[in-house]
Amino acid sequence: MEKTLRLLIDGQLVDGAGTMPVINPATGAAFMRAARADTAQLDAAVAAGRRAFPAWARHSYAERRAYLERFADGVEARFEEFARLLTMEQGKPLDQARFEVGGTVAGLRYFAAQDIAPHVIRDTPEERITEHRSPLGVVAAITPWNFPLILLVVKLGPALITGNVVIAKPAPSTPLTTLLLGEVAADILPAGVFQTLADANDLGGPLSAHAGVAHVSFTGSTATGKKVLSSTIDTLKRFTLELGGNDAALVLDDADVAKIAPMIFNAAMVNAGQVCLAAKRVYAPRVLYDDLCKALGDLARRAVVGDGMEQGSQIGPIQNAAQYAKLVDYLAQAREEGTVVAGGEPLERGGYFIAPTIVRDLPHDARLVQEEQFGPVLPLLPYDDLDAAIAAINASEYGLGGTIWTGDPDRGEQVAALINSGTVWINRHLDLPFDVPFGGAKQSGIGRQQGLEGLLEFTQAKIINMAKA
Ligand code: ADP
Repeated sequence: MEKTLRLLIDGQLVDGAGTMPVINPATGAAFMRAARADTAQLDAAVAAGRRAFPAWARHSYAERRAYLERFADGVEARFEEFARLLTMEQGKPLDQARFEVGGTVAGLRYFAAQDIAPHVIRDTPEERITEHRSPLGVVAAITPWNFPLILLVVKLGPALITGNVVIAKPAPSTPLTTLLLGEVAADILPAGVFQTLADANDLGGPLSAHAGVAHVSFTGSTATGKKVLSSTIDTLKRFTLELGGNDAALVLDDADVAKIAPMIFNAAMVNAGQVCLAAKRVYAPRVLYDDLCKALGDLARRAVVGDGMEQGSQIGPIQNAAQYAKLVDYLAQAREEGTVVAGGEPLERGGYFIAPTIVRDLPHDARLVQEEQFGPVLPLLPYDDLDAAIAAINASEYGLGGTIWTGDPDRGEQVAALINSGTVWINRHLDLPFDVPFGGAKQSGIGRQQGLEGLLEFTQAKIINMAKA
């Protein structure tokens, strides 16, 4: 019988109402179990959060900072255990898992150091009017399966330091690192301040709709994000939605193909392409198109695909069977409607592996161009006219990120101004420092995470208006 990780509810590590197997996507076999909460445990967690909130909110920033620093120390002390568990449940190569755990520790420390001071609007002999930022209460942090730790920390850190309490609900296929965070927190944070509820994809709705929850911070697909939005209406709760994307990499005609190809490849293939901000379609000027297709194809053929626990693996498996099936379908379309430059097939071995794939000559309306593929399958489209390429990029219902690749960064900045999305990088990708907010335009989301804006999301303005005389 495999080991089972438990839930953290009201300061206690507890069994779930049931348990569920967690599958290692590199083998397709279960390797551990997660406690599975039911709605009674959900109610108990919300009630415990509400009991814990007033005292946590009354602590000073300095007091909360001390707790969060100890929480970061606790994760750091079990660094390698977190990294290995992350690779086993999520699939990413161990060095990428270590990078994510490093970011988790750094993120907890960064947000621990933040502070929102009251803002004096008016201070005269007669009156003083100040704006304070108050915490909201119980925050539901609902996360997806591509970055189970870091996507939780960009919610957890800002929510806790500003005085909220948090219930984390991980995706059903990657619950273990979140439950391990709960184990660490059990000895460090006051009961009810941080709690974990793993589910079989059945508690996200009841948690977002729960009358005792004040804010839902959600990262996941646009379709599920819309359900979250509608479930906040009854109690007018606050929300942050980080949703899907179909980010374009736009290559300008002054770019150096040999230099940018490895960076574009990485932008598309990191975490096996399962990144909301991954490069998901490439637009290249016709003069560079053949060379870029060839360079990316060479990189795809050379990339080492394998179990993330094996030394040297660069691209791991697809995280779960449903996503794998979706990608196998995209591969069939790519072979039918376009020209496969490299890859194009699932790999015949245990687990959910597919070959990194580069596709050219697809029509603009191909599903692989129009939809979010969320995997290591990259379409390249040629353009003759830059304005038309920008129009095609902006025609998407999404607007999360995007990149411009150019020999002239200032020209890149002018082009970036024309792209309708929350972040545009020039000659770099996935640079997401904790002091810089990120979030989506259009159907890629509402609200921001990280930076000052990301902290303010978990607070509301409160005016204190005093007559002095
Ligand atoms: P995917 O479709 O890739 O599995 P989702 O966006 O559905 O991704 O999942 C992201 C997170 O949202 C997961 O933790 C999932 O369990 C949760 N979730 C699923 N359904 C709902 C819902 N109706 N309300 C809130 N969260 C949900």
